[in-house]
Amino acid sequence: MKTLKNEMTCRFSALSENESFARSLAVSFASGASPTITQLADIKCAVSEAVTNAIVHAYPDGGGTVTLSMKHYEGGLIVIAVKDNGIGIPDVTAAREPLYTTDTTGERSGMGFAIMESMMDKLAVRSKEGRGTTVTMKIKVGT
Ligand code: ATP
Ligand code: MG
Repeated sequence: MKTLKNEMTCRFSALSENESFARSLAVSFASGASPTITQLADIKCAVSEAVTNAIVHAYPDGGGTVTLSMKHYEGGLIVIAVKDNGIGIPDVTAAREPLYTTDTTGERSGMGFAIMESMMDKLAVRSKEGRGTTVTMKIKVGT
């Protein structure tokens, strides 16, 4: 296991106004790991998708919190976890398919997980119905 160089955890209310807050936080933290501009943009986008999912899908009755944690290891590995204690995802394999969405408003395209997957080196989704969801992403930054 590589040496942990830096870490942070932040828990915030599942409100849409916290999407930009979480994005900025992720960018600020990741900047300390000397990423390229492209890697930084990818982290910003992937965190945004995961946090937006927790805010939009996890708590249909409102309330709830989202926890964003990031770890930076020696050698440039960044591990990002976005966790909620919401309704969970009944079929994770189906949810990860491009264009799969449970949204009925027509606002969502079902591309969130596909975007996260394409931008990160690794994406893992752990979910339990009624218990919540944790999305873990890994990316190696630096040149
Ligand atoms: P888009 O991301 O393109 O706006 P989307 O959010 O529906 O659309 P994905 O991000 O790929 O698409 O997520 C697919 C589906 O997985 C969602 O429609 C939702 O049903 C479910 N889902 C994703 N994240 C969560 C979560 N944290 N809690 C509960 N359900 C979730
Ligand atoms: Mg989404």
